[in-house]
Amino acid sequence: MNTFPRVVLKKGKEKPVLRGHPWVFSGAVARVEGEVSPGEVGKVYSQGGQFLGLGQINPRSQIIVRLLTQKKEELGESFFRERILKAVLLRKDWSRGKTNAYRVINGEGDFLPGLIVDRYGETLVLQCVTAGMDRLKEMLVNLLVKELRPRSVYERSDVATRNEEGLSEQSGLLYGKDIPEWIEIEEQGCHFRVNVKRGQKTGFYLDQKENRLSLRESSKGKKILDCFSYTGAFSIHAGSGGAKDFTLIDSSQEALAIAEEHFRLNQLEKVPHRLIRGDVFEVLREIDPGYDIVILDPPPFAKKKGHLPGASKGYKDLNLWAFRLLDQEGLLFTFSCSHHMNWDLFQKIVFSAALDSGRTVQLIGRMGHPWDHPINICHPEGEYLKGLICRVV
Ligand code: SAH
Repeated sequence: MNTFPRVVLKKGKEKPVLRGHPWVFSGAVARVEGEVSPGEVGKVYSQGGQFLGLGQINPRSQIIVRLLTQKKEELGESFFRERILKAVLLRKDWSRGKTNAYRVINGEGDFLPGLIVDRYGETLVLQCVTAGMDRLKEMLVNLLVKELRPRSVYERSDVATRNEEGLSEQSGLLYGKDIPEWIEIEEQGCHFRVNVKRGQKTGFYLDQKENRLSLRESSKGKKILDCFSYTGAFSIHAGSGGAKDFTLIDSSQEALAIAEEHFRLNQLEKVPHRLIRGDVFEVLREIDPGYDIVILDPPPFAKKKGHLPGASKGYKDLNLWAFRLLDQEGLLFTFSCSHHMNWDLFQKIVFSAALDSGRTVQLIGRMGHPWDHPINICHPEGEYLKGLICRVV
């Protein structure tokens, strides 16, 4: 292990690492000793010479080290097998009978920084976000195939954040038979078609699965406005809960075309529904009020800290219009998936939108990550999905 490069931190910067945080920012580093190629494993030391852990180093990234362990241990195949098996175990019992589509590995949340693996039936979709995981791709695919026996593994490492790691975007088949254009999945009795090659994220917003259930429970006889609907997953769950009327808004024509198919696939095609292609910010100003439930599930407005002021204005505007469009006793299911928007700020924005709308509003619930998107408690940045249920009285 002596040939490993060494990262020595500045004085006092070891504290978060000692508490288990898996990231070391370049600003915390005093010096890097030895040649490092992006993604190579190295040792991390405090200024005083204390060993802090082993991690993947990428001198090109602002997050210069992603720690994998605080112990002196071999980071070989058996190390990764054990981490993968732990992640699989969490999902195994939980998913049974509920869904065949879920996140198998959630990066830092499963102690495998930079690695995302989603399962859609017999297909695994893999995303390597860091140089460290990218280097190990072949081994990781072999392990996943051995432990999970998928028919195919498809790569969707076509995310812009890879540029920050000095990596180009990549996608394509990594193992097995070429996958069909459409994979049918089931989520709590609802059926969806997913295009893992071209769909957003890895094809489907798996992170909202439990929040869709909360919606379903309150949907009987309700008129629904589903903003940022993508392929209509919230609406379809509401439909299975007995909702009677739907309006979906999304900017993607392709997503709306699949939503229409989802109504058919779930025997909801006869329930009144209209799909509006447009900008939610504009459409909310134009449509008539009178909804029982409004869902706001926008894309992340604050991908960087500097975007927060603009993002806050965006959330405020959306929520203000949503409150205006609700009937008495109406419910707002409102989300933020921006990493930099914390609970406190998000709640303040939603409450201030409620006040400005002139409505009387109660907070009746909070929503967050499902079981297949665990958060490492030492890595609060992993918690990105925040949702509130508000009631207009
Ligand atoms: N609720 C969805 C996921 C929403 S993701 C689900 O459960 O599956 C965000 C969606 O917002 C994407 O489908 C994207 O096409 C759409 N979008 C982004 N900006 C938009 C805008 N300004 N107006 C309308 N749709 C937008």
